[in-house]
Amino acid sequence: DFSGFPKLSTNTYVDNVLVNIDNDQNFKNARENATLLMLVRNRELEGALKSMRSLEDRFNRQYQYDWTFLNDVPFDNDFIEATTAMASGKTQYGLIPSEEWDRPDWINETVFETSLQLMNEKGVIYGGSKSYRNMCRFNSGYFFRQELLLNYDYYFRVEPDVEYFCDFPYDPFKVMREQRKKYGFVISMYEYEDTIPTLWDAVEEFMEEYPELIDFDTNSFDFITDSGLVGKNTPIIDSNSRYNLCHFWSNFEIADLRFFRSERYIKFFEFLDSKGGFYYERWGDAPVHSIGVALLMRRDEIIHFDELGYYHIPFSTCPSSNLMRIAQRCVCDPDIDENIDVRLNSCLMRWWKNGSGKFFMKHT
Ligand code: GDP
Ligand code: MN
Repeated sequence: DFSGFPKLSTNTYVDNVLVNIDNDQNFKNARENATLLMLVRNRELEGALKSMRSLEDRFNRQYQYDWTFLNDVPFDNDFIEATTAMASGKTQYGLIPSEEWDRPDWINETVFETSLQLMNEKGVIYGGSKSYRNMCRFNSGYFFRQELLLNYDYYFRVEPDVEYFCDFPYDPFKVMREQRKKYGFVISMYEYEDTIPTLWDAVEEFMEEYPELIDFDTNSFDFITDSGLVGKNTPIIDSNSRYNLCHFWSNFEIADLRFFRSERYIKFFEFLDSKGGFYYERWGDAPVHSIGVALLMRRDEIIHFDELGYYHIPFSTCPSSNLMRIAQRCVCDPDIDENIDVRLNSCLMRWWKNGSGKFFMKHT
C-alpha cells in the first residue's frame, strides 16, 4: 500500500502542455507530455535508485515528471516501494508482453546457438547472452508501443548506475518541443563491428526498397557514412561497409515517441528484424536507433545536448566551459580519460564537421 506516498493530485492540459495542478506547486512548473523511462531488472534496484537520485537532484525535483519502469518479469514490492519513494513525480510499472520480449519462433535454433557460441569465443561483449539480445530487440522495436507510454509524446531514457554531473539549465523536453527536435543525445561513438557484420547490408536493402522514405537532402546520412569526410582528426575505421559505425549512445536518449511509433520507423524496424540479426548477430538498439534517425529524420530534428554532464560506464561527458560548470554546479572534470568528447572514439567531431550542428540554436 503506497497511499502514504505523495502523488500528483491532478494533471491537465493547457496549450498541449501537461500541467501539474498541485496545491503546493501552484502552477510553478509547466510540464511537457513526457516521462522518464527505465527498463530495469529487480536486482538492479540499487543502481536504479542511484540514477533516480541523481536525475531528481539535477533536474526532475523541479518538474516532477512521471517515472515509467518496464520489465520482462513483474516488479517486486521492494522495487516498487523504493523507487516510488525516490520519485518526485508519480511512478508506474509495466510488464512487457512476452511476444514483445522473447525470441520469436521463426529464429532458427541451430543458427542462433552456433552464433552465440562463436561470438562468445571471439570475446564479443555480451556475445553469449540471450537476454541481452531480447533487450536490444525490445529497445529497438517495442518499448515505444508499451501501453504505459502510448499517451506520452516524449521520453527520457534512464539506465541504472548512471550519473548526471550538472544541474540541467533547462527542461530538455521543453527544448525539444519548442525547437521541434525529435532526437536528443549527449554521447556518440563507434560501434563494435563484430556485433553488426551484416546490419549495413540490411540497411542498404531497406534503402533500395523504400526510397520514398528517405530524403538525403535533409537527413544526416553523412554523419553515419564516410564520403570524403575523413580528416586528420577522424580515425579511419577498418570496416568493410560504408557505415562508419558512428551511433548515438542510446543509454541516454531524449526523444519523440511519435517518431518511433511512425509507420516509417516501424517499417525500418520490421525490415531489419526480418533478417534475424538481433539474434544471429548481436545488433544493438544504439546503432539501430541511430541509423533509423539518421535516415528517416531531418538533420535539424536532432539535438546534441552540450550542457548536460553524464556518465555511464565506461564513458562520460562534461561541459568544457568552466563558466558553465560553475553555473550548473557540475561535479566533473572534462580533462580526464573517461571524458569521451576529447577522445578519438567519439563521433562528435563528425557530427559537427558535416554540418549537423548548423541548425543548432542556443536555448537559454
Ligand atoms: P549495457 O549498458 O549495454 O552494458 O547494458 P545494460 O546491462 O545496462 O542493459 C541496458 C538496459 O536494459 C538497462 O537499463 C538494463 O537495466 C536493461 N536490461 C538489460 N537486460 C535486461 C533484462 O533481461 N530484463 C530487464 N527487465 N531489463 C534489462
Ligand atoms: Mn547500461
